[in-house]
Amino acid sequence: MLEDKDRIFRNLYGFQDWRLEGARARGAWSGTKALIERGHDWVINEVKTSGLRGRGGAGFPTGLKWSFMPRNDPRPSYLVVNADESEPGSCKDREIIRHDPHLLIEGILLSAFAIRAHTAFIYIRGEFVREREHLQTAVDEANAAKLIGKNNVNGWDLDIIVHHGAGAYICGEETALLESIEGKKGMPRLKPPFPAACGIYGAPTTVNNVESIASVPDILRRGGTWFASLGVLDSAGTKLFQISGHVECPCVVEEEMGITLRELLDTHAGGVRGGWDNLLAIIPGGSSMPLIRAEQCQDLTLDFDALAKLKSGLGTGCVIVMDKTTDPIKAITRIAYFYKHESCGQCTPCREGTGWMYRVLERMQRGEAEKREIDLLFDVTKQVESHTICALGDAAAWPVQGLIRNFRDVIEERIDQYQAALKEAAE
Ligand code: SF4
Repeated sequence: MLEDKDRIFRNLYGFQDWRLEGARARGAWSGTKALIERGHDWVINEVKTSGLRGRGGAGFPTGLKWSFMPRNDPRPSYLVVNADESEPGSCKDREIIRHDPHLLIEGILLSAFAIRAHTAFIYIRGEFVREREHLQTAVDEANAAKLIGKNNVNGWDLDIIVHHGAGAYICGEETALLESIEGKKGMPRLKPPFPAACGIYGAPTTVNNVESIASVPDILRRGGTWFASLGVLDSAGTKLFQISGHVECPCVVEEEMGITLRELLDTHAGGVRGGWDNLLAIIPGGSSMPLIRAEQCQDLTLDFDALAKLKSGLGTGCVIVMDKTTDPIKAITRIAYFYKHESCGQCTPCREGTGWMYRVLERMQRGEAEKREIDLLFDVTKQVESHTICALGDAAAWPVQGLIRNFRDVIEERIDQYQAALKEAAE
């Protein structure tokens, strides 16, 4: 279990002052200038040493991502912070923004310095109205205290612009987000070119998640090796886990990577509703990750590798718990509806496939399907997966694949029950 001394997010629950004075009392903005004076390469190397992997879902190494930014490019560089937290189940970035926004702002200054950017955008989800107000207040405070802005006390000029989105899930995809900031429709771009080569306004851009950036000041102050000493191999450090669904006390908590699911639920969320044996399945990392059956959860650790081995993923670290009262087909049908609704419609496999998968699942949850359609549905998910411009296609396909892999027996039983009821009615 994570010790208090190793916590990065010390005001996660908002019990203390979230403004500049409170943040300073918790250690934010201390020695920032000295960190900057150590140079761009030192910052990047320290983050590489820490093993920090992006906390927005993909888990790409943050330091490595920064090193892709061109060095001697005449175009300006930009840092864009993705605060468009919209994945069902994810609710960690909003806690950072509303309760400790200065952690994020200091992290932006250090990260922008690492990639030689003098302008940073924070793209915040449309529904986060109060959070945006806190964030803007914190940015204004930092400007007034000359911590950021032109000729600031830390020695690296930086403008931070808070951009309020309009509430579309797809704008959380990094290139759709850039389009949206540019004032266009939030539709993902074809990659390559990747944002590091051609991002916002055609200039080199790095897009990072809120939690990743907010972790940077502590990593630099305490050292990359400190962060790397926490967690497990390939999944270093601490992470904000979000626990929702059928637990006694849903919560957001900072824990070490690699904690077991059982310890996480029992220690922080009061355990599974009705006891551990009442667990049916979990979705380990946001609605786009395939679910995992209870039998596979007994000794499950929450890290990138362990979950990948089970053909699922850590995603954003939000664990959705389902107890035995859950109808897994209905749950995945609802998720399929969400992705159908949020598809931007640019690519045919996603536009048509998400609706098709949803309609088949709708029938399946009632048992009004044939058993051969189970394989057909799986086949269609494979035609959507990796055949689209952005990852929404995968996000729509994976939960359905997880359902078929883990709950084929339930689907077949539902079809049998429906057929039996039909036969009985006919007789
Ligand atoms: Fe749009 Fe879906 Fe294609 Fe992504 S995968 S670009 S959301 S149609």
